[in-house]
Amino acid sequence: MKIGVPKEIKNNESRVGMTPAGVFELTKNNHIVFIQSTAGEGSGFFDEDYQSVGGIILKTMEEVYSLADMIVKVKEPVEYEYPLIKPNQIIFTYFHFASSEELTFAMLNSKAVCIAYETVEDAEGTLPLLTPMSEVAGRMAIQQGAKYLEKPIKGRGVLLGGVPGVPPGKVLVLGAGVVGVQAAKMAAGLGAHVTVLDTNLKRLRYVNDIMPSHVVTEFSSEYNIRKHIKDHDLIVGGVLIKGSKAPKLITKEMLKEMRPGTVIVDVAVDQGGCFETTVPTTHENPTYIIDDVIHYCVTNMPGAVPYTSTMALTNVTLPYVLQLANFGWEEACQKDLSLQKGLNIVQGKCVYREIIEAFEWSE
Ligand code: NAD
Repeated sequence: MKIGVPKEIKNNESRVGMTPAGVFELTKNNHIVFIQSTAGEGSGFFDEDYQSVGGIILKTMEEVYSLADMIVKVKEPVEYEYPLIKPNQIIFTYFHFASSEELTFAMLNSKAVCIAYETVEDAEGTLPLLTPMSEVAGRMAIQQGAKYLEKPIKGRGVLLGGVPGVPPGKVLVLGAGVVGVQAAKMAAGLGAHVTVLDTNLKRLRYVNDIMPSHVVTEFSSEYNIRKHIKDHDLIVGGVLIKGSKAPKLITKEMLKEMRPGTVIVDVAVDQGGCFETTVPTTHENPTYIIDDVIHYCVTNMPGAVPYTSTMALTNVTLPYVLQLANFGWEEACQKDLSLQKGLNIVQGKCVYREIIEAFEWSE
């Protein structure tokens, strides 16, 4: 199969859909891979790296789209790309269709086969192509939170690990899922005192089993949240109720209970956020302050560490890319039910119920 990897042109997106290691695997399997020139540079991969493993560098995005049977990307196509997509072409990327009717119509009109990373689902009900980005965001939440706790950027002026003779800072993590566990692990590694809240006792048992004793777990309730926000320096929001908006666990009125300079990082911002005062922000302007509480609510946190994120993403996408290339989309989706769940739009028809429901279309 001919596979195309265009450069991402969405604002501030430096990840790329495939690494040289992926191109190596595909060319070994007798596939042809076209990469748009400089597509990998933001992630530390240069044209020569792709060429050395058999990749073919093309100058323009137009050439990549016109020659490829399958396009492998990171983010959804933007308007410039819509007319380049051909009928029957496989587009394998994050789409998040439910959040854009315009994109959905564009892909329906293109008659392409759109397989969305975010809906590929394994037998246990987990989303294997979303997990690595939650891992990156969970770890980054502590790195960013620690930075904004510094006084020159209006934080409380607390060093999370403390020093001998001075107690460590306190980190409150809401949600013990992928984001929460990774955040707790990073905070614990820095030496902070960590409290993890979740409504799922299985998750709290897991955290209790694997974390050191300075990570404590507690059931998530309004009472416990009100109690902890008063003396925690950094609060990370990593809650998710699948298919719904995030619950608002911290209201505007509760900000007054926090100490000035407290930092709150709402990783769940892409699901509406778990703080009432959350407003989506960007890497250019990541924070704002309300009632002396610093809010960090960047919607694409992994985009700031493209080298790590690209590798984490392509580690999990490559096996699916190989199946699609080896068997074509129909046979690959028949053989692998998790990949079948990724089918969202097929040759002008929406085949994913949640998208139809999101736009209240009749079937
Ligand atoms: P997950 O499903 O693994 O974990 C969510 C956890 O929240 C679960 O353990 C669940 O029991 C818990 N939860 C639900 N209601 C709760 C409540 N009231 N109190 C406490 N805990 C509660 O999800 P995840 O992969 O960790 O993702 C979390 C969020 O982070 C998602 O919204 C995801 O889209 C988002 N995310 C954002 C970025 C970003 O760049 N901003 C990147 C990756 C993921």
